[in-house]
Amino acid sequence: MDTHTEPADTPTEVPVDKSFGGERKVLVIEDTVTSAAVLARHLEKMGCIPLLAHSGEEGLEAFFRHDPDVVLLDVILPGIDGIEVARRIRQSERPGEWTPIIFLTARSDDRAIESGIEAGGDDYLTKPVSFVVLAAKLRAMLRLAHAQQNLLLLTRRLDEANQKLRRLTNLDGLTGIANRRGFDDKLAREWARCRREERPLALLMIDVDHFKAFNDSLGHLAGDDTLKIVAATIAGSLQRPGDMAARYGGEEFAVVLPNTDLAGTRHIAERIRENVDKLRISHPAQGMAEHVTISVGGAVAHPAALPAMPASRLIDFADAALYRAKKEGRNRVVIFDADAMASSLPASR
Ligand code: GH3
Ligand code: MG
Ligand code: MG
Ligand code: MG
Repeated sequence: MDTHTEPADTPTEVPVDKSFGGERKVLVIEDTVTSAAVLARHLEKMGCIPLLAHSGEEGLEAFFRHDPDVVLLDVILPGIDGIEVARRIRQSERPGEWTPIIFLTARSDDRAIESGIEAGGDDYLTKPVSFVVLAAKLRAMLRLAHAQQNLLLLTRRLDEANQKLRRLTNLDGLTGIANRRGFDDKLAREWARCRREERPLALLMIDVDHFKAFNDSLGHLAGDDTLKIVAATIAGSLQRPGDMAARYGGEEFAVVLPNTDLAGTRHIAERIRENVDKLRISHPAQGMAEHVTISVGGAVAHPAALPAMPASRLIDFADAALYRAKKEGRNRVVIFDADAMASSLPASR
């Protein structure tokens, strides 16, 4: 216990200061009743709300209950001392959080000041505490705390913006569905997952038929509009939340279908082809097609059964199926069994 007497200066001579910006809660952890009472009176004069605690335990409880703006902390306390209280307050803070702690010490106690700052204190006041010095230090600390809060807010906003940016960088600007980067991520993730879970993974490569001729006669902007509609139709043909449609590039699209076998893949590919066909977007090129159609090539693999096969190989197989669909007349679906193909071909790409 310390034996300090009442502070020397009389707060009544100083005008009441309301410039601390709203009602700041200041927690005073001080076992000497008279000293605590004087501090409380000082704080009230400053327009602050004093919260009093008379032991370390009581102080910690009040800290967690009231979340004060500043803590005035006596070094010598019954039970847990001030140094330990400061340490526990600092330990409880999440990254970026900070409540200023000002130690109250005897004039000659250099050692206590040193360990107080070491434990997480920010400043100290010697007892008896002068009203003027207390007001100045409180103001400085509150200013710092305010800056710290702004910084925390800014950091959080920046995190949110970064998250949004990451989402946007995986989306195609024209069609709004996933772009090549989003597709690459998804394929790699699902390849690994389906391998782990011993499930099949299907990939569809989709190409708009005779699209060069479409552009050549109706112009690029009309072509863009058609790509948007086709993309939305492909994406709208998928039902499971794990499925993904992406723009692979140009007028080519890709669809990833986790946990989908050959029969299921044929079914979905055919549904996509039919849904685009049903749009009846008129195709101006004579002798080619009356309306816009797509060709779909697909490949289905069991990654767990093909330990040497990279995910990119599935793209090769789906591309080969697409090539076959084009050759056989377009506006059709060809699906390959990648398990059978991989085992009959050399493993490396
Ligand atoms: P195929 O049936 O064999 O696929 O014939 P195709 O004309 O569709 O194939 P090709 O690869 O010769 O031409 C693809 C065309 O797609 C070329 C280009 O004019 C068009 N295209 C690619 N990307 C875009 C795009 O972003 N916007 C528009 N409007 N057209 C695009
Ligand atoms: Mg004390
Ligand atoms: Mg193409
Ligand atoms: Mg094409």
